[in-house]
Amino acid sequence: GAGPAHGEGAGPGAEEGAGDGPSPLRVLLGYVRPHRAALFSGALLSLVTGATGLALPLVARRLIDNLSEDRPIATALVLMSLLVAGNAVLGALGGYVLQRTAESVVLTARKSLTSWLLRLRISAVDGTEPGDLLSRATSDTTLLRAMTVQTLIGFGTGGLTLLATLVMMGFVDLVLLAVTLGVIGLAATVIGLIVPRISKASKRAQQSVGRMGAVLERVLGALRTVKASGAERREERAVHAAAEDSWRESVRSAKWSALAGNTAGLSMQVAFITVLAVGGARVATDSIEVGSLVAFLLYVFYLMAPIQQVVSAVTQYQVGAAAISRIQEVRRLPAEPGALDAAPLPEAGAAPAAVAFLDVRFRYGPEQPYVHHGVSFTVPPRGMTAFVGPSGAGKTTVFSLVERFYDATSGRVLVDGRDVRDWPLAELRSAIGYVEQDAPVLSGTLRENLVFGAPDTGEEALAEALRTTRLDGLVARLPEGLDTVVGHRGTKLSGGERQRVAIARALLRRPRLLLLDEATSQLDAVNEAALRETVAEVARETTVLVVAHRLSTVTSADRIVVMDTGRVLAVGTHAELLAASPLYAELATTQFLATADLA
Ligand code: ADP
Ligand code: MG
Repeated sequence: GAGPAHGEGAGPGAEEGAGDGPSPLRVLLGYVRPHRAALFSGALLSLVTGATGLALPLVARRLIDNLSEDRPIATALVLMSLLVAGNAVLGALGGYVLQRTAESVVLTARKSLTSWLLRLRISAVDGTEPGDLLSRATSDTTLLRAMTVQTLIGFGTGGLTLLATLVMMGFVDLVLLAVTLGVIGLAATVIGLIVPRISKASKRAQQSVGRMGAVLERVLGALRTVKASGAERREERAVHAAAEDSWRESVRSAKWSALAGNTAGLSMQVAFITVLAVGGARVATDSIEVGSLVAFLLYVFYLMAPIQQVVSAVTQYQVGAAAISRIQEVRRLPAEPGALDAAPLPEAGAAPAAVAFLDVRFRYGPEQPYVHHGVSFTVPPRGMTAFVGPSGAGKTTVFSLVERFYDATSGRVLVDGRDVRDWPLAELRSAIGYVEQDAPVLSGTLRENLVFGAPDTGEEALAEALRTTRLDGLVARLPEGLDTVVGHRGTKLSGGERQRVAIARALLRRPRLLLLDEATSQLDAVNEAALRETVAEVARETTVLVVAHRLSTVTSADRIVVMDTGRVLAVGTHAELLAASPLYAELATTQFLATADLA
């Protein structure tokens, strides 16, 4: 994979301006590229169908003219029917191939965009609405379907026909061609003024769809809180407002599209009248024959269809361009190099990791205040290190930096003496088991949740993990055992059960470094004691970092790091810190005891 990037926002395409990057057509062609053979055959089939359709009357004439004793009318009819049927089959085939290609283009765009979404840096996602990102991957990519067919085919066949007709007109009379081109040029100018509005309105419509997704995601993600707060009505208004915005902008886009189409139609009428006037004058002065004028006027009519095709290609291009611009906005968000690489989990008995922070300063963004002001500590391999401090001290941030969810603004984060930015990302993360604060349970079955970080887990290891996290009782109680679906965000589990699932998930990765962020805060005293024993046992073979609020957990740690407002105040054992750190002494007597009582 690509080499690791250093420093803030160093991901691919980071810090690019919104208007930069390839044109929408280039992006579309990129998605079309893998399917260009299919697109070409589809277009060819459509052209052949059109041509044979046009030729049918001529064939009919020949057949009828050649009626004779040997070739009765019945034969002619059969031949004609075969031709018509063949034409219909060709047409259907061409249509199918084109639609299929368009769907393939949508698929390519969706795969490419969703891969990118999965690689995004957390800092990039922090500033976005997941529901909006979702709408870009689903709704905006859908718009590429019409864009592929109408734009590429419309420009191709429509443009070709248009050109051929204009050439034919030139053969008839150059002056009348100049008149026609003048009218077309005028219409093109007007349409050129209209067209950007289509794109703008389409983009706003899609943005509203994104807003709809964002509100819905917020509501469905916190349904209980929404209901408990009686906020359904307000949220309903917000969703409906977004839907109405989308409607309004789509209607606006439709209006401009209709106007563009009408302008094209009108220009042909104008061309007809102008050609009639100028041509009539030329006939009067004997510059051209009447027959030429008639032929030319016929060609003006022939122009109608390809011009409409080209105009609809242009308007459809604008709609697609708006979608592509939203897709490209995601593509410009910084992604992690190597996030999708595979790295094997540590072997059983792999060496435990060492962790060190060297004068780490960190802020979540250039505009944000620093949350680490020069954090330094060293954790040798093996043993348990507890991080304590008031909330907001920066404890969770320590873990985020170890996992390299973010990069330190300055200073160094070392795992095994190696800067995390110099680790292949997948390798770094495969060495770590992480139970985040308020760790989620993913939708799916209990088993899927447990082996999420270690899909190759055997039944024995799974049973062992269930035992050590005391989930075996729960599994035995559930009617479908491990195959019970635990629902969105684990709604079918208690808080303590969710935490134990998260711990089991982390343990099954046999990590060389285990990070537990308030992972036992919701356990009852009995389960907490059992988990403490498990963790103590794990800590004999693995490096364990815990953020804990319970005195029992903290006192069993080999060393304790006391943090406050982004600084390390003291490091030591419980006994040392009681004497040396006033903050620790205070926490020990107030907070630790208070949360222990909660159990
Ligand atoms: P702790 O875990 O000790 O309670 P955290 O490390 O979670 O503290 O947070 C430290 C500070 O960083 C807090 O002031 C918090 O508001 C801020 N913070 C945490 N996450 C983010 C984020 N994603 N973006 C901006 N600020 C954040
Ligand atoms: Mg925290």
